[in-house]
Amino acid sequence: MTESIVVSNDQQFTSHAPGYWPDVPAELWNDWKWQLKNRVATLEALESKIQLTKEERAGVLLAGKKLAFAVTPHFFNLIDPEDPEDPIRRQVIPRIEESVRAPWEVADPCGEDSHMPVRGLVHRYPDRVLFLVTDRCASYCRYCTRSRVVSGVGEQELHTDFEEIYSYLRSHTEVRDVLISGGDALLFSDDKLKGILTRLREIPHIEFLRIGTRVPIFLPQRITEEFCQMLQQFHPLWMSVHVNHPRELTAEVKAALERLANHGVPLGNQSVLLKGVNDDPQVMKTLVQKLLRCRVRPYYLYQCDLIYGSSHLRTSVATGIDIIEALRGYTTGYAIPQFVIDAPGGGGKVPINPDYVLFHDQDKVVIRNYEGKIFEYPELAEKPKFQRVIEPADELLFS
Ligand SMILES: *Cc1c(COP(=O)(O)O)cnc(C)c1O
Ligand code: SF4
Repeated sequence: MTESIVVSNDQQFTSHAPGYWPDVPAELWNDWKWQLKNRVATLEALESKIQLTKEERAGVLLAGKKLAFAVTPHFFNLIDPEDPEDPIRRQVIPRIEESVRAPWEVADPCGEDSHMPVRGLVHRYPDRVLFLVTDRCASYCRYCTRSRVVSGVGEQELHTDFEEIYSYLRSHTEVRDVLISGGDALLFSDDKLKGILTRLREIPHIEFLRIGTRVPIFLPQRITEEFCQMLQQFHPLWMSVHVNHPRELTAEVKAALERLANHGVPLGNQSVLLKGVNDDPQVMKTLVQKLLRCRVRPYYLYQCDLIYGSSHLRTSVATGIDIIEALRGYTTGYAIPQFVIDAPGGGGKVPINPDYVLFHDQDKVVIRNYEGKIFEYPELAEKPKFQRVIEPADELLFS
């Protein structure tokens, strides 16, 4: 007797091309500049393809004042036209709920503007910086934590002082790690990005470069062989991509990620926990396992930042802890991201974990495993070497 194995669509790496663009020759489709030029970015273009709900229609009309609406043809093809609650659709099609501002929502939820020694450079941790090189992205995520500047239509504009940043970095010898983000640096031409990487590599104390990008997901056509060869000259160079739902990992995306990995770029993934997108242990398990198959190590799972108009996409913190609980022990350790809250007001990333330590004193530690079984381990008198005792301040810095 033969048994049939049911593989859900979410677990497969399928191509959705050409989808809504049946007449476009492969040569154009595979050209990243064509993809950018032909983004779905107007109400008219959108309504010619899918039927919108009235909440979406109103949302698109509002987007021009807040965070632009644009989706690459590649990513647009992943949307289920029949389902307004489709997890891909919820991430990129605006909704009127974006105009609802909960009392705790703000324009700059991670307090980046108050940690900018030079415009476009966030120096929040001792040994590393965040370098915002552009405000443009291939498509726009409705929950973007930087929507105050990203896409160029929001409250503020990003004016990065490149020369001042290089000179700040030259004089700040404690900085050994530069995270290039934006916006999305991979929208720059190979030459322009090469110029930035070259300037950074000229600074001897900068050991480690990384790029945070969603381009391999929104625009896998951008990850050409030549581009990967250019990146290869700047190792160690790591990349953090941004995938939220297993369906985003298409055949094209997998090929792009493999190309980067083949050129020696270690890959991590950052997901944002989003209601109706990935707030489900099964969805998240499929996602992290598919990521490993693409040679991407899940890195962070972010609690959704308190950005204006994001309440409809926010889940409870307990949901995030529950998801980690459902992964740890049940799947490959490499597949489990660190759940974090980027502390409101600029406290940085704080790890949030299920409690596996039930009791800890000078004699013993009582722990539980993923199945809930309880174990005891002896504690030794030896003092830890890193003796900084963190005394939580009694004052609440930001609420
Ligand atoms: C996330 C972030 C970093 C990098 O943090 P890691 O935990 O090292 O990945 C650096 N600077 C800023 C401002 C950040 O938000
Ligand atoms: S790709 Fe990143 S920076 Fe761009 S809109 Fe999405 S979350 Fe924001």
